[in-house]
Amino acid sequence: MASESWAQAVDEQEAAAESDKAAQSLLNKLIRNNLVNTTNQVEVLQKDPNSPLYSVKSFEELRLKPQLLQGVYAMGFNRPSKIQETALPMMLAEPPQNLIAQSQSGTGKTAAFVLAMLSHVDPNNKYPQCLCVSPTYELALQTGKVIEQMGKYYPEVKLVYAIRGNKLERGSKLQEQIVIGTPGTMLDWCNKFRFIDPKKIRVFVLDEADVMIATQGHQDQSIRIQRTLPKNCQMLLFSATFEESVWSFAQRIVPEPNIIKLKREEETLDTIKQYFVLCNSREEKFQALCNIYGAITIAQAMIFCHTRKTAGWLAGELSREGHQVALLSGEMQVEQRAAVIDRFRDGKEKVLVTTNVCARGIDVEQVSVVINFDLPVDKDGNPDNETYLHRIGRTGRFGKRGLAINMVDSKMSMNILNRIQEHFNKKIERLDTDDLDEIE
Ligand code: ADP
Repeated sequence: MASESWAQAVDEQEAAAESDKAAQSLLNKLIRNNLVNTTNQVEVLQKDPNSPLYSVKSFEELRLKPQLLQGVYAMGFNRPSKIQETALPMMLAEPPQNLIAQSQSGTGKTAAFVLAMLSHVDPNNKYPQCLCVSPTYELALQTGKVIEQMGKYYPEVKLVYAIRGNKLERGSKLQEQIVIGTPGTMLDWCNKFRFIDPKKIRVFVLDEADVMIATQGHQDQSIRIQRTLPKNCQMLLFSATFEESVWSFAQRIVPEPNIIKLKREEETLDTIKQYFVLCNSREEKFQALCNIYGAITIAQAMIFCHTRKTAGWLAGELSREGHQVALLSGEMQVEQRAAVIDRFRDGKEKVLVTTNVCARGIDVEQVSVVINFDLPVDKDGNPDNETYLHRIGRTGRFGKRGLAINMVDSKMSMNILNRIQEHFNKKIERLDTDDLDEIE
């Protein structure tokens, strides 16, 4: 790859990084309509290792209010998810226990804390009893929707959004039992305007801690809110990832926590056939791609490019050749992106052209062909093995066989390919695109 486009890609990635986490998370919520499958066991670290560990296999065992049980079933939930099995009894215990929980998106965290909040409020008390902070307005709205759905048969419990633009009259006091919002506004509502009396809060939820700390100021604001809450307030923190920075933040927000972690499913290259195609330029790569197009569109394929610009160009060229392709690009609004992914999932398009940043964390089960139009590299130009595994490994999930084709267009990219090959200790074979018998 030319160094110019490299630099461009790095700029793009960095600019995208901050807002990207929140957008990615929202995207995941918009396109997710069921639980992520996992066979891994949860890891539990109890505050008091001597106390018995409860885990439930049904919602009945939780002795929920009938209105809430009805809400849960109306959402189509039959039994608790893996993380809910242990998280729910802990959150619903008396006296309340603090919890830090980490698991990838789609494993049932939101549903779990929503149920905890709804269980703990007293609808007869017309003041805020639960605060839930989210990194962005849109994410807050998504959680709000879950509260509304689950609380459908419990209409006495009311919800209000503490988000910028939601202006209240000075001196007013909130009557709603649950307040959900972003840290800045929530802090103002507690401290500056006193719409909320923090001393009456019984449950404090901090959602998407990893996204939260990626935004300047959110960490401090969250800590300042937490400091105003009573000692016996239940503190709950959730995160999809758990790097050191998230962990140290979590410890400042949640004293004496129980900790639950659910590992991601391991990705594997075992069931994947990996090839490379040797070319001399971007145009040659395009030509090679056209040669294999018929073969790859038997299934659904994702094509990864390093920059938005290349992705846009490639999608344009493929369309000009008469192929119907979808483009998923960072320039699009999150809702537009969700619509593209939905169409692709429904099989309306067979090929999706995208960049790394855009497709991170998106699982499209039926994809069995992945093409690296550009090989994944980090900002120093070294092979990005993790991204490689994540792009390709997806095709190995669900027990299906997959196919990965890497486009190589220079000595530099050949070197990267070799290093990826060595890293995974898995042979990547050369594919002659004029003779495709091999892959069919
Ligand atoms: P997370 O917060 O970890 O991203 P969610 O709570 O949003 O996960 O759950 C992911 C998806 O799974 C949502 O569509 C949600 O409605 C659904 N879901 C959550 N818990 C259950 C359950 N126990 N049974 C079936 N579906 C569930």
